[in-house]
Amino acid sequence: MFKMNSRLTLLILGIVSISFSVFSKYSTAFNNDRRIIEQRLATYSQRLLLIRTKMTSSSEWTQNDTDHAEEARKKLGIWPLDEYNVKLLNEVHPRDYVSEKEPYTEYDLIAIGAGAGGLVSSKQSARRGAKSAMISEALAGGDCLNVGCVPSKALIRSARAVSQVRKAGEFGIIIKGEVVVDFPKVMERLRQKRAAIAPADGHSGTESAGTHVYQGRARLTGPNTLEVNGQTLKFKNCILATGGRPFIPNVIPGLKEAPYTTNEELFNLVVLPPRMVILGAGVVALEMAQSFALLGSKVTVINRSSRLFESKAGDPEAAKIIQTELEKDGVTFLSKAKVENVETLVEADNDQHPLPLMKIKVADQTLECECLLIATGRMANVENCGLETGGVEFQIGKGVVVDDYARSISNPNVYAVGDCCAGVPRLTHMSGEMAKLVVQNSLANDDWKLSSLVVPAVAYTEPEFATVGISSEGQAEIEGVKCEVYRAGLEHNDRAILENSNVGFCKIIVKKGSDEILGATIVAERAGEMINEVSLAMKNNIGLYAIGRNIHPYPTTGEAVMGCGIQYINKHLPRFDEN
Ligand SMILES: Cc1cc2nc3c(=O)[nH]c(=O)nc-3n(C[C@H](O)[C@H](O)[C@H](O)COP(=O)(O)OP(=O)(O)OC[C@H]3O[C@@H](n4cnc5c(N)ncnc54)[C@H](O)[C@@H]3O)c2cc1C
Repeated sequence: MFKMNSRLTLLILGIVSISFSVFSKYSTAFNNDRRIIEQRLATYSQRLLLIRTKMTSSSEWTQNDTDHAEEARKKLGIWPLDEYNVKLLNEVHPRDYVSEKEPYTEYDLIAIGAGAGGLVSSKQSARRGAKSAMISEALAGGDCLNVGCVPSKALIRSARAVSQVRKAGEFGIIIKGEVVVDFPKVMERLRQKRAAIAPADGHSGTESAGTHVYQGRARLTGPNTLEVNGQTLKFKNCILATGGRPFIPNVIPGLKEAPYTTNEELFNLVVLPPRMVILGAGVVALEMAQSFALLGSKVTVINRSSRLFESKAGDPEAAKIIQTELEKDGVTFLSKAKVENVETLVEADNDQHPLPLMKIKVADQTLECECLLIATGRMANVENCGLETGGVEFQIGKGVVVDDYARSISNPNVYAVGDCCAGVPRLTHMSGEMAKLVVQNSLANDDWKLSSLVVPAVAYTEPEFATVGISSEGQAEIEGVKCEVYRAGLEHNDRAILENSNVGFCKIIVKKGSDEILGATIVAERAGEMINEVSLAMKNNIGLYAIGRNIHPYPTTGEAVMGCGIQYINKHLPRFDEN
């Protein structure tokens, strides 16, 4: 019976739209108001679809349905459609989704995009009483939940388990027999964890917060209007939160045609690639290189620079430690290397070849691999969003151009947050913080500045590599700042010694002649947790002296942060052998 209702609704929709087009074609008077009527019709169509959605079970993604599996793979880039991916999609991209809520004639805030930036700005504004909407084209949760932070950290955890098992002997634990990595199980765990986190970003939670959710692609149609699914929405403030995508170099012959992988497909793997070549040596490349090497792939990283983190003048000592530790886990680095061409030997298919085969020429070497991961940076999603029509200035690749309040420099009704924004760190917590900032600035008329943000960043390798602010002498030099560096090595940190992880250090950089903290680099097992103390100090103008006087529990790796402060204090205390 439900199926009949569904077909009937579709039939009505068909008849209504055919009648509309015939009628509108032949009526001049009608043509004058065509746009308005078209918009109304789109709204009615959506309502009818909503009725259909509620009355049928076809709004749910289901397992073991080949049409659903095909749709999920082709339209949303998600596979396999097992119980966990079904759960994920039912949260973040329900089929035929239409909000139950009556649209407002004008919204206080509409976020375009449903990643950290769009979710936080639209939910927070709704919770505070604003008329708010969020428009989600693909998967809510954006890159972070679906193809970024969440799946990568799930994979890293499995890889760490391999590492711990391998090192068990160092702790007096003997594992008898062979240790086997069950890669399909590793990936199933990843999907399960991602699905468990998904409800936080799901449409129903967002609607419950008071936001109207529209599922479709949004395009600006004017300085304060946009269009989604043929419907025009008016806004006082629009938050562009359209995120980014992998940058694919276009100068490598054969690459465009090759079945390469990016983060958008990597987490769908169900077969471990025996050989993986990674193009790029940034954070994503390093995290995945170490993980796949530990899980059993033979991994080669191709770095065009002569050392890690060179292009951003990252700390050279950190670069050396991270590279050495990854090499110990089986990763091969080719530095100052340039890919000459990529040749596809075998395309993947569902039968004999679950993985493709490629040949990569790098200088005098030829590498073969079943997975070529492109991790050469990110570019902003600014195309086909109607930014030109909306009068929003942007730069291809870099993103929307904003002022210090995250406001478009050319359209004061529009703000941009996160990865689609030019000149800001591309990190989830940055998108989230910018979202809070734009809610304040746009709705509360505040003057919260981007330049006031202190943004830590972490590479979740083992050991972790965490930075904040000016993180090396090289960076200070580039910025023309005179600095002093205080360093505490982990070789003498008792907790790190006891944990067998005493490779690393904490370096805190201060303005020369003062204890004003400019930034830090920490390489340690939990550097991502340790860096927060330095960020807090920087944000609140707490100097290195105070960090040295902040008692840290013994034994903790965090004592290395205090250690830098103690060095500062010792250097500045009066000596007893001087008058
Ligand atoms: C492999 C990997 C690992 C990462 N790990 C970390 C990590 O550990 N920590 C960290 O802080 N960061 C990490 N990042 C970066 C992080 O994922 C991004 O910085 C973050 O997702 C950006 O959030 P956003 O809201 O700006 O954009 P996105 O998450 O990209 O969301 C943009 C959204 O906009 C939608 N959209 C785009 N155009 C339109 C349109 N016209 N209409 C409607 N909707 C539209 C998209 O469908 C998407 O949902 C990682 C990235 C990758 C690739």
